[in-house]
Amino acid sequence: MTKAQKIDIKSLQIDELRAIAQPAYRGGQIADWLYKKRASAFEEMTDLPANLRADLAEKFSFGKIDIVRVLGSRDTTRKFLFRLNDGNLIESVLIPASPALYGSRSDRRTICVSTQVGCAYGCKFCASGLEGFSRNLAPNEIVDQLIAVERESGEKIDNVVFMGMGEPLANIDNVTRAIRIINAPWGLGIGARRITVSTSGLVPQIRQLADEPLQIRLAISLHGATDDVRDRIMPINKRYKIDMLMSACEYYASRKKQWLTFEYILIAGVNDSDEQAHLLAKHARRVSAKVNLIPYNTVAGLPWSRPTQDRQEQFLSILHGHDVAATLRREKGHDIDAACGQLRLQTQRELQAKTFARA
Ligand code: SAH
Ligand code: SF4
Repeated sequence: MTKAQKIDIKSLQIDELRAIAQPAYRGGQIADWLYKKRASAFEEMTDLPANLRADLAEKFSFGKIDIVRVLGSRDTTRKFLFRLNDGNLIESVLIPASPALYGSRSDRRTICVSTQVGCAYGCKFCASGLEGFSRNLAPNEIVDQLIAVERESGEKIDNVVFMGMGEPLANIDNVTRAIRIINAPWGLGIGARRITVSTSGLVPQIRQLADEPLQIRLAISLHGATDDVRDRIMPINKRYKIDMLMSACEYYASRKKQWLTFEYILIAGVNDSDEQAHLLAKHARRVSAKVNLIPYNTVAGLPWSRPTQDRQEQFLSILHGHDVAATLRREKGHDIDAACGQLRLQTQRELQAKTFARA
């Protein structure tokens, strides 16, 4: 077996750790080394017998992800660019306190993690989809984003949003595996209510996630209140129309004691009309969703822009007029606040430019 084919130790659940190391309490010791003491190699697990450590090293990989670039400073949003073992680049974002964010209070730090390299869903406004899809992340590559960011920043993360690069529900098996590790007391111990998965609207997987016992939160990237508008900017809508999506949301809400969130990027002249606001309110009331309005972040090479501040406020007040819980992200300084996927894209373009310059 080559190294690349080995399963990574940080992809295993506790029952699997117990099964690979006898007697079973050794499994708990390994979990402690991985998630409490944050070991970075089997040799560091000094209370395990040497032959067990050698055996584990033989059978499992112990990956790590390298930070290649950090943007931002301590009290602002910080972006981390990582290189995976196979050379692919992904990014995570560490967001300081923001009352508008998913279950976070003012003293909470939120990490936004990636779930795939690239994205196959090709939403017209998004940087992550621009270069197509490369591969799914393994569970350990998702968990390692938290571990690496905590190590680098020295800060404790207490809120996780799956809103980085990729479509989490297109990689649902690895994502739910990672979530169990992030949530478990033997793992990173972050409460399920502090974990939010965002999806562009994969209807069958929303239903599948609804049937999972985990009480995690779900955010839907809606971005349009009619099929007409959504078809224009999100190809997934050709497959799963808004009505199908809302039925799946109703099902999710019925299975979990959690509010749903609708993400709604405001794009000038595309989805920001009064009519869209009224219809969005109708959908939100149907499934008891909160609405998060996000002024569009421009992406180099794409034609879209955000509406004026007045238009944003007017859109928000229509939602409030329908008694929908809605917030509008108003913070300034968007240089690096831009949505996930952009740092990677920028770095790749710089690297390509260098390669061309040398050729
Ligand atoms: N694929 C999933 C999760 C990753 S995208 C999803 O689409 O939900 C995370 C969020 O960032 C989504 O709501 C997405 O629509 C939004 N987003 C993408 N590009 C953006 C941009 N340029 N400005 C603001 N938000 C953006
Ligand atoms: Fe993929 Fe989400 Fe970007 Fe759409 S918005 S291309 S689903 S990452």
